[in-house]
Amino acid sequence: MKERAHSLPSFSAWLNKGFDLRAHADQMSDARTEPEISPSSIFLALFHSFVFRLPSFQQLDSELAHSHLQRWIGAERAFRDDTLRYSLCGFDLDPLEAMLVDVNRRLKRGKAFDQGRVQGHLVAALDGIEVLSSFSRRCESCLERSVTLKDQAGRKIEQTQYYHRAVGCQMVHSPVKPFLAIEWLQPGEGEDKAALRLLTRLPDLYGSRFFDILLVDALYAQTPVLELVRKIGWDAVISLKQNSRDLYQSAVRLFAARSPDTNFTEQRDHKTYRVQLWDSEGLPFTIDNPEPVRVVRSEEVLDRKRYRQGELTSHSTDHEWLWVTTLPRQAFPTPVIRQLGHSRWKNENNGWMDLTKYWAFKHGFLHACRHRPKQTNASGEREPVSNQGLAAVVLILLIAFALTSAFVLRHSKLARRDHLTAIAVAAQLRAWASKTPPSIRAPD
Ligand SMILES: [Zn+2]
Repeated sequence: MKERAHSLPSFSAWLNKGFDLRAHADQMSDARTEPEISPSSIFLALFHSFVFRLPSFQQLDSELAHSHLQRWIGAERAFRDDTLRYSLCGFDLDPLEAMLVDVNRRLKRGKAFDQGRVQGHLVAALDGIEVLSSFSRRCESCLERSVTLKDQAGRKIEQTQYYHRAVGCQMVHSPVKPFLAIEWLQPGEGEDKAALRLLTRLPDLYGSRFFDILLVDALYAQTPVLELVRKIGWDAVISLKQNSRDLYQSAVRLFAARSPDTNFTEQRDHKTYRVQLWDSEGLPFTIDNPEPVRVVRSEEVLDRKRYRQGELTSHSTDHEWLWVTTLPRQAFPTPVIRQLGHSRWKNENNGWMDLTKYWAFKHGFLHACRHRPKQTNASGEREPVSNQGLAAVVLILLIAFALTSAFVLRHSKLARRDHLTAIAVAAQLRAWASKTPPSIRAPD
């Protein structure tokens, strides 16, 4: 008989065989002493709540009490979200990061990144991602900014907003787009600092040849980033905005004086783009660092047809992009640089936006949780452990994101046959857990 829907046992069998899920879960630890609910069960509970796309921790509470999930994650009894918080605040991040790295290595070995290679190369992107913002709750590692709001009478008022932000590195060329690692911004530091820390750490985690080309934002168009990328042995495509003024202006001046090197028309998503490209090697990167770099500029007119008052009218908008790259012209012709430069914007559609918007990332308590396990500090006093809650939850989310997208996009025959979305697959797995009588034992 043909299978009609996904079941948790077949999903879990795939996870255990291909990714050692249970073995990794056994490595988890936290700061509690002799807890009744093991760190492994806490990890599996949260992992499954992301797999099922549960809307809240409260919903996880109720699934644990009323479904097969409790047994599936090896918990002796149901538990509430206060247990989850208390464990997660003191969760050990190392085994979580080790698991994320292992998952990504296995995905690569299993050829999950082969599809979509650019001239045979693997492409990753670096981007800032924001998690949590609040006007009331704050913790010692919150970042702060001043925001202008309107009060009830419509008057403008300034208020301090607390938030957390990280820099993430994500594979972007293939259908499966897992994050490789993330690095949190410390209070008072810029995003470029965190980006440099992340780039320095990546080769230690994955080796230097895990991917070949790194796409980065205008924000990181700086000499230290370029130097580090070169030292590690990656190539880079860096988008430029007017903030990198010297290079931007000299490129614009140079290209204004000559006709485009390439022009063509492209049809994509029912839209027509008229593209003009300029390409030049040997422009100085900055005044302080005049080393020559290759610059590509794209001028694009997007033509769209729209119905206005029953009449079909055409409407066009102009767009301009500029990129610096270390890639050689011979192997990476101008249109390929444009394609790479644009592919990083897909990030917004496929990565963090999806995670935060559809995966219910509203766990505000995680950074401002005062009830935490205590440990003895250097002067012999008992004090709460530093709060790892947010970092732990984000790592578990990234692990779940990598594995579920690989399952849906690469493994599941049902998803292909029935054209199931990732959300539909999540609903089937969740339904299995709620329907199944709790007499079936979870596999060891
Ligand atoms: Zn905080």
